[in-house]
Amino acid sequence: MTKKSNKAKQPPQLLRGMKDILPADQAAWLWLRQVVKDMAESYGFKRLDTPIMEAESLFSRTIGESSDIVNKEMFTFTDRGGGKVSLRPENTASFARAYIEHGFVNQPQPVKLYYFGPQFRYDRPQAGRYRQFFQFGFESFGDKNPVNDAQMIQLAHALLSYELKLPISLQVNSIGDKECRPNYIKTLTEYYKSRKNALCENCRERLPVNPLRLLDCKEKDCQELASGAPQIVDHLCEECRDHFVLLLEYLDELEIGYELNPRLVRGLDYYTKTVFEIWPADDPNGSQSALGGGGRYDDLIELLGGHSVPAVGFAVGAERIINQLAKVKIDPPAVPAPEVFLAQLGEKGRKRSLKLFEEMRRGGIRVMECLSKESIKAQLEVANRLNCVFSLILGQKEIMDDTVLIRDMENGIQEVVDFTKVIPEIKKRLEKYRTKHVKLDNNVPADQEQNKEEQKNE
Ligand code: AMP
Repeated sequence: MTKKSNKAKQPPQLLRGMKDILPADQAAWLWLRQVVKDMAESYGFKRLDTPIMEAESLFSRTIGESSDIVNKEMFTFTDRGGGKVSLRPENTASFARAYIEHGFVNQPQPVKLYYFGPQFRYDRPQAGRYRQFFQFGFESFGDKNPVNDAQMIQLAHALLSYELKLPISLQVNSIGDKECRPNYIKTLTEYYKSRKNALCENCRERLPVNPLRLLDCKEKDCQELASGAPQIVDHLCEECRDHFVLLLEYLDELEIGYELNPRLVRGLDYYTKTVFEIWPADDPNGSQSALGGGGRYDDLIELLGGHSVPAVGFAVGAERIINQLAKVKIDPPAVPAPEVFLAQLGEKGRKRSLKLFEEMRRGGIRVMECLSKESIKAQLEVANRLNCVFSLILGQKEIMDDTVLIRDMENGIQEVVDFTKVIPEIKKRLEKYRTKHVKLDNNVPADQEQNKEEQKNE
């Protein structure tokens, strides 16, 4: 056998850093998607889906040429027409493009939009870091008042902490704007220049290009230097300071706890004023395992050639949330189990079941089948395992007589009913069963309830 044919026989594998979301994991994902959708609706955000591929320049112009994302992590290639395109590494730039392109500026402001979709970064794969990962995010365009920043944080906090019950830690900072940041950057660069020898190689390279990023370097020596570095909050202009103070007042009013983190800068160029991140609570690697982050980006739309439109938003990593839920042992709500099992014998039984199944589903009955099993016994075992309340049996005799056997799975009692009456009959029985169980769940002894029921019927 040649080498080539050996290779051809190797089963295909996932690309590095990519992940299948298996059926067993879907309950948590569905829950997360539902919570995000419900929160968006409650807070008045409309869904916007943008393509996963955009012109490369959209990201390099906005996220910044010197950022890790643009520099090292984008999936960029030339398409067949010679265009330079990228898989989106995040969604905010695409939303800004869409805002301009669809004339959202002419709608009542703020325009509040959200997404839930895959993003792509050629990151070094490790725990919680993938090359395709999902983010959901909320963006609000058109209002510069810090109440919007506060509402974004309130939304993120309510979603993660109240709805999903995750213990979290909120980190906030302000990184100023084009008025005050240049001066701060000068001061910061001076500070680092005189300590250059103590910096890691990466930071030494970054110093002339993106000195802010030195503040969140993970190397121990650099972290020590960062803790003594001048802080931007001491260099904010009046407007940025007032904005930040007001935001903190809003958070205090909301009783949302936060940590002022002078080293929080976020890795993207487009932020102005407020920046924040949400970390798992008590995680020593908080900054590396951040669940989400965001901030204000007042210059982004203008930078892309639109009007001057202030904006604020945040993004959360869905895989990080799913992993964190599992880590702190929070299960998604249970999916309603099937209540009725449809068992059949022979070809005729199978035909009838196939049709009856859909009719029952349309009738709002949670029904399950096992059309590939032949024996009734084996099918009833499945029904037992699924904890079904009733089984419907379509055997040879029932097919001949145009009937169905209803089997009560609790006590094994079986009754024959007309095929045409089976749906109303099963609905009636399910109703009775549910009422009995609601009462049982409310701690009313079953025999008392049954006595009352019988007296009523007499
Ligand atoms: P960022 O805007 O880069 O801070 O990303 C926002 C959130 O997306 C992060 O806090 C993570 O939860 C998530 N995220 C970013 N990059 C990745 C990745 N490579 N794999 C999984 N999740 C990621």
